[in-house]
Amino acid sequence: MPEPLTPGELLALDRQHVWHPYGPMPGKAAPLLVESASGVRLRLAEPVEGQDELVDGMSSWWSAVHGYNHPVLNDAAHGQLERMSHVMFGGLTHEPAVRLAKRLVDISPEPLQHVFLADSGSVSVEVAVKMCLQYWRSLGKPRKQRLLTWRGGYHGDTWQPMSVCDPDGGMHELWQGALPRQIFADAPPAGFDAAPDEAYAAHLRELIGRHAEELAAVIVEPVVQGAGGMSFHSPAYLRVLREACDEHGVLLVFDEIATGFGRTGALFAAEHAGVAPDVMCLGKALTGGYLTLAATLCTTAVADGISRGALPVLAHGPTFMGNPLAAAVADASISLLLSQDWGQEVKRIEAGLRNGLAAAADLPGVREVRVLGAIGVVQLDHEVDMAAATRAAVREGVWLRPFRDLIYTMPPYITGDDDVARICAAVCAAAREG
Ligand SMILES: *Cc1c(COP(=O)(O)O)cnc(C)c1O
Repeated sequence: MPEPLTPGELLALDRQHVWHPYGPMPGKAAPLLVESASGVRLRLAEPVEGQDELVDGMSSWWSAVHGYNHPVLNDAAHGQLERMSHVMFGGLTHEPAVRLAKRLVDISPEPLQHVFLADSGSVSVEVAVKMCLQYWRSLGKPRKQRLLTWRGGYHGDTWQPMSVCDPDGGMHELWQGALPRQIFADAPPAGFDAAPDEAYAAHLRELIGRHAEELAAVIVEPVVQGAGGMSFHSPAYLRVLREACDEHGVLLVFDEIATGFGRTGALFAAEHAGVAPDVMCLGKALTGGYLTLAATLCTTAVADGISRGALPVLAHGPTFMGNPLAAAVADASISLLLSQDWGQEVKRIEAGLRNGLAAAADLPGVREVRVLGAIGVVQLDHEVDMAAATRAAVREGVWLRPFRDLIYTMPPYITGDDDVARICAAVCAAAREG
């Protein structure tokens, strides 16, 4: 074992050497040092604001749906570790990857039949885009190489995904001139239950029709736009996209990296609309938050198109593609999810969030409170003071990570009613002080 380091030493070295997400170097605010995690609780290495444990309101960015240190997922990881943690995927295959791919095909919308296992959500989006562009190239239509999306989206931090993130005010505004120029529709009108806006539907149809010659694909997050602004829209617009894409010969990609595996109340958000995409990206909750893994699924038409082209292969193959350890845990996580009435758990959390966040609507500085599935959002009328909001939540014994004007939570599905109430109290405290 290496020499133990004190929390103070670790934090000093962290500040000196370690980049954190969306952070400067050295970091501005000191991160909290987590020693271990179990169930819905993060155990801190030293108390902060009088708390040595925090209820996790973030599921580690939508991923830890079963909570931490889960015996079933631990067993899957241990079992696989003893067989092999990794072997290359070129020329070799293994049971964890095959089982996982078959399961993803079984549970996802019917037309999706083929699975590319990637190492992160952003890479799965890169692969989705490559699939779409290559499909049209193979069919002798190389001009079809642009993407259309609606504003307010988020698809990851690598190059192609950045080009379809919200172009204004988002994290990637800096790169506007350098990124491929995509086509942006207005953001979808807000509200999951809102009556579909005919003028907006016409706007989508018109843009897709006008650019059909140069469009490879439309890519959107179905029903919930996550890191681009935590907003919800009517599933009706997904049907509009499906129809317009079919009419004009454009592929449709659903990025379900955040919405997949039950978060919105449906196993996949596409189910709210009753439509299937041509390509779908999964990630985040895929391994129950244990390991990094993502998947790009596609239809047989897309796979055939690519495989009949001049270069009849999909030229992509990450070193850690199909990682057995991650695949085994993912398969166990999906089994665990489907073995319980997860829909009921999500509904229970939804009710708890509606109840507990209602009070936030009356706070000064709060613009809107919205809840869908196991997602609760309080939007302020100003940029949140991150340090103050985080401190207020920690004081309530809860971990939250607000951004922009948003204080939000998507708790693990195993979060008990008392802990959901506690998370809501912390969101309200953060809204008051942030
Ligand atoms: C998080 C996210 C991504 C990027 O996934 P990473 O694993 O962080 O690369 C892409 N799309 C959506 C919708 C996401 O929420």
